[in-house]
Amino acid sequence: MSLSSRAAELRPSPTLAIEAKAKAMRAAGVDVVSLSAGEPDFDTPEHIKAAAAAAIKAGFTKYTPASGIPELKAAVAKHVKASQGLEYEPKQVVIGCGAKHVIANAITALVDVHDEVLIPAPFWVSYPAMVRLAGGTPRIVYADGETRIWNPDEAYLTPVAAGYKLNPASLAKGLNAKTKMVILNAPSNPTGIVYTPAELEGLAAVLREFPKTWILSDEIYDCLVYAGEAKSIAAVAPDLKGRVLLVNGVSKTFAMTGWRIGWALGSEHVIGAIGNLQSQTTSNPTSIAQKAALAALEGPKDSVAAMFAEFKKRRLLIAEGLSKIPGFRVAPADGAFYAFPDVRGLFENPSVASKLGFKPGQPPKGFSSALASHFLESAKVAMVPGGEFGLECHLRLSFATSADNITKAVSRMSESVSGLMKA
Ligand code: PMP
Ligand code: GLU
Repeated sequence: MSLSSRAAELRPSPTLAIEAKAKAMRAAGVDVVSLSAGEPDFDTPEHIKAAAAAAIKAGFTKYTPASGIPELKAAVAKHVKASQGLEYEPKQVVIGCGAKHVIANAITALVDVHDEVLIPAPFWVSYPAMVRLAGGTPRIVYADGETRIWNPDEAYLTPVAAGYKLNPASLAKGLNAKTKMVILNAPSNPTGIVYTPAELEGLAAVLREFPKTWILSDEIYDCLVYAGEAKSIAAVAPDLKGRVLLVNGVSKTFAMTGWRIGWALGSEHVIGAIGNLQSQTTSNPTSIAQKAALAALEGPKDSVAAMFAEFKKRRLLIAEGLSKIPGFRVAPADGAFYAFPDVRGLFENPSVASKLGFKPGQPPKGFSSALASHFLESAKVAMVPGGEFGLECHLRLSFATSADNITKAVSRMSESVSGLMKA
């Protein structure tokens, strides 16, 4: 039996797959420390759970409008007005089953065969796969301006000096007449970068020259910014707002990954098309979860502040710990909850490279995977290889886990690197 060509080329999301492997090892009695999951380790705040329980009790358990309940759309619009100063009407808001679902639907609503979607590397793992599913072509642009059509079997290396931020010159190199959409994600998964308003204005100036290109701004980590501010490109360049799709959700800010509520705001035309897609495929996101999301947006924020304070401490703990390991270079993340160390120092170490199966002069393709597998097997620490995010010789370690786990993971990795470095 043959699968459709679209399904046949799909691989499971590596972030979810590695976390599932770590959970299975733990269930089998192995003492694994997992820094692979991109989800808060905190429980959903009590008042949010209570709102869901009340919704069940009140019988709010039937279909809702496919694009979400009006009161939640209104609360989302109010939230964006407060955080970004941007005005949206409820009909410019669609509620979906998590930001992931909303992004996939937005891509499906806009991207045709032969269209390109420009994705800055390193990127969140699911963007290229979603573009391919919609029949489009993902074009990856690196911070140094190198651009390539995405190939899931390849990951590249860019000069460290170029950093991880998309700059106007690189953006201009990647855009062409076929570019239907550019995906911006800040704070970024996996690098944690946050753009300054001036940097966003620089990108906006280039985008003004491409009036047919849509801008999908994935702002799911906007409440987790430790340095700088999370400004939306739609707020910095209001003249572009009509072609920005602003995406967010409750997963990260409110520790609600399992509830599956996300949303997009933008032009009524595109938002309506996303609603139609939902109407023909999933129908509404869960009624009860929508009520919980409403309570999250409208209720007290003290638990959000407490989680933020904890992440802020861990970001330094993990960066300090990792930067002491030979071969690791890492700065504290400005936002989100990931450390993304550059480990090319290990690739360049002959003893480490040969123990991981690499010969001198060989390109680094697969190095991050080999290293992450080594850490999982020898140190029992799980993480996601940078190659999955399109950038070799890097690792992504989530600090959405306890300080004890971070300390334990760093010390195990340090010991494992000492072993690899022994001639
Ligand atoms: N965008 C980014 C950058 C993410 O890291 C995630 C994490 N899952 C999502 C979107 C999707 O989040 P969710 O579907 O849980 O709302
Ligand atoms: N976004 C999170 C991560 O990157 C959750 C898993 C996923 O949806 O990819 O780990």
